[in-house]
Amino acid sequence: MKYLKDIKAKDECVLVRNDFNVPLNQKREILDDTRIRASLPTIEYLIETGARIVLCSHLGRPQGEFKPEFSLKPVAHRLSELLDRPVQFEAEITGEKVDAAKASLKPGEILLLENLRFHPGETGNDPDFARDLARGIDVYVNNAFGTSHRDHASITGITRLVPVAVAGLLLKKEVDYLSLAVEKPSENYVLILGGAKVSDKIPVINNLLDRATTILIGGGMAYTFLKAQGVKVGMSKVEDAYLPMCREIMEKAKKSGCKLMLPVDHVAAVKIEANVTIRMVEKGKEIPEDMMGLDIGYETVERYMAEIRRAALIVWNGPMGVFEVDDFSGGTMAIAKAIADVSATSIVGGGDSVAALIKAGVSANISHISTGGGASLEFLSGKILPGIEALS
Ligand code: AMP
Repeated sequence: MKYLKDIKAKDECVLVRNDFNVPLNQKREILDDTRIRASLPTIEYLIETGARIVLCSHLGRPQGEFKPEFSLKPVAHRLSELLDRPVQFEAEITGEKVDAAKASLKPGEILLLENLRFHPGETGNDPDFARDLARGIDVYVNNAFGTSHRDHASITGITRLVPVAVAGLLLKKEVDYLSLAVEKPSENYVLILGGAKVSDKIPVINNLLDRATTILIGGGMAYTFLKAQGVKVGMSKVEDAYLPMCREIMEKAKKSGCKLMLPVDHVAAVKIEANVTIRMVEKGKEIPEDMMGLDIGYETVERYMAEIRRAALIVWNGPMGVFEVDDFSGGTMAIAKAIADVSATSIVGGGDSVAALIKAGVSANISHISTGGGASLEFLSGKILPGIEALS
């Protein structure tokens, strides 16, 4: 993968593909600017280098047409505040006006284009759209890790149409950290997986079984594994179609010496609701027929924390329970704090796990928080992301 810091950018017209897909409210105010802030080091580097900077991104899913609620204009304002310098906003993506604006940029000046997904050619990877986007561009920088699993015009198509295509600082950081998780087997590597569906995480488990020392499983996905072992799980979330696959994974783990751990106790209830009566289901007891397991119990937390304390590398994706409801958030909060407390290298991905870190107030103590949910899961599954492949 070619890298921005290895090429000449001074005086060049540099197009940076960012992930400015930030949540907005009805008044089009930015609710969380984490993704914008994560892009700043690359933009600041380009300013210092004296590049002529064109920024682009998608926001939401406007389905190939102009929809004012998905305009990137609020992002231009926020960028300008954060960088403390003007950011020119262009209400078009391609065309004569945009070409003229690109051509008139001076070193260090910044132009932000309108939402790429206002044009159907973006998600359709239309070569004509990619060509228009590439016009006047000397260097293309992919800094949008969260979109790099997409075969879109601004991610892959454009790389074939510009003189130089490289990774930005954020993309490189993501790849460097996530590579720790997928490359050679590591000692004391603890992989923690949770979330609703086992089907989403099976490719990750299959890919990392030979590399991780220990896999800790929580969340809804644990119940398909438990049922596959013959444990009675009541009304808990189970994907029956994956029972054979879970049995196979447990067999493989045994053979490869990977310690795959499942919850031994649970917080259960008849429905997912605040203030509903909860039942602590102790080790060796069954989840009642009319109840669901909605969080890992105290003993499971203790066992998982003991593994986390021994870890040198921790990778976490997916909550341990329905953490959005306080009664079922204890397991996820305890795991988040435990990861933050140890000196191991820690890599956390997935919107819910990141939200849990923020809720627990410990995100500053994590080595790397991935900006890409779907992209990080695909990376951990061993897939080569199209956007990364296109830079090789
Ligand atoms: P995912 O997007 O697959 O990472 O799943 C995240 C969602 O899983 C969150 O909204 C959680 O509320 C949900 N979840 C976690 N544990 C459970 C559980 N035991 N039963 C049902 N849903 C769960």
